[in-house]
Amino acid sequence: MGVEIVEQHAIEAAVALSRMAQQPVLRREEQTAALLEADAADCAAERLRAAQAHFHEHRDFALAGDEVDFAAAHAKVARDDDKTLRAQIICRQRLRAHTIRTFRIAPRPFCLFPKTGQPVFHAHFAFAMTTEYAPLYVVPTPLGNLADISERARDVLCAVNWVAAEDTRHSAPLLRHIGAKARLLAAHAHNENAAAERVLALLAKGEAVALISDAGTPGISDPGARIVAHAHAAGARVIPLPGPCAAVTALSAAGFSEAHWLFFGFLPSRSGPRRAALKTLAALPYALVFYEAPHRILESVADMTQELGAERTVLIARELSKQFETIQRLPLGEAADWLAADPMRQKGEFALIVSGATKAPPADEAKRLLRLFLAENLPMKQAAKLAATLSGHGKNELYAYALEIRGQRTED
Ligand code: SAM
Repeated sequence: MGVEIVEQHAIEAAVALSRMAQQPVLRREEQTAALLEADAADCAAERLRAAQAHFHEHRDFALAGDEVDFAAAHAKVARDDDKTLRAQIICRQRLRAHTIRTFRIAPRPFCLFPKTGQPVFHAHFAFAMTTEYAPLYVVPTPLGNLADISERARDVLCAVNWVAAEDTRHSAPLLRHIGAKARLLAAHAHNENAAAERVLALLAKGEAVALISDAGTPGISDPGARIVAHAHAAGARVIPLPGPCAAVTALSAAGFSEAHWLFFGFLPSRSGPRRAALKTLAALPYALVFYEAPHRILESVADMTQELGAERTVLIARELSKQFETIQRLPLGEAADWLAADPMRQKGEFALIVSGATKAPPADEAKRLLRLFLAENLPMKQAAKLAATLSGHGKNELYAYALEIRGQRTED
């Protein structure tokens, strides 16, 4: 539904409800409820007008959609006015109890006051859609270099009242640095469900929340996923900001030509499960992205070499964006020695990118058979099929090899 239409409906609802509130047939509490709902509808219209004004100002910019939400989420009228808030809550409760049921059966959407049976315009539904929850912003923060915070991240962190942070002590200096006055609430791996409830309660009050982790993008080997899932489940808008992420930053420096990559994150900490995990990745033709802690970097690289193959290429991205940033690209088989050569190379934070599996060439025996059959002028398909049956190698691989041989012959 367009913003203008929703606004019009909200205005209509406000007028109708105030008229209704004056009807003598209504009991006192019903009049109060109607008045409160009129206020709430008015408030919805006002917020939508604010959002629209913002939208029109910025209509030429790609980010205009977000600006609308931001303006709506922070309209002062919704945040500070206790009466409006109470009205919103009443509206929400009524909507939960009645609107959805009525919407399904009514040809023209409307809902009924529970006791009086008075029709209430469907603007209430629109109102709930536009004001029920403020947005949840997912905000990446620098990996090391404070200058990497984006202007938009700074704006959001300075505008919201609440920041849900993985470690509030860790994030406080960053917020101070950018001049953000938001209150912090802890959202770490051990309290994520409780934190999600708290975040939702704030969003329900019309208070936008920004979710951040210690560094990089929340939810990427970091807490955040459960809070985001709760927000989606409640119907709140989730607005992700692009920004720092060690995996993507390292990939950009890898120079691998694989079209696909797989983010694995942290491998298991013990060698047995780690090698088992690596085995499942060994045949994949994708660049593999790992995170690793400094005290495990040597043993992990040794296991990677064993399970993925020494001939692959690895990019070691250490301390990205920090003073001792190191980017080293070398064969996986040489990586352990390179790390061991200087204890400083094993310190700090690591992202590793390993090149994908390349197709194994057919073994020598299969190739020999294929060449034999081709020399006898067998058709390529038949030669590949026979060589595959006799050698146990893949027919398609051998057919590809046959094409290569025939190609070489024509060139000869
Ligand atoms: N959410 C973060 C992101 O978006 O990249 C990742 C958080 S995870 C808990 C921390 C791990 O990310 C580190 O142990 C390291 O493997 C990797 N990492 C974080 N910062 C890094 C940096 N500056 N250089 C290299 N790797 C980094």
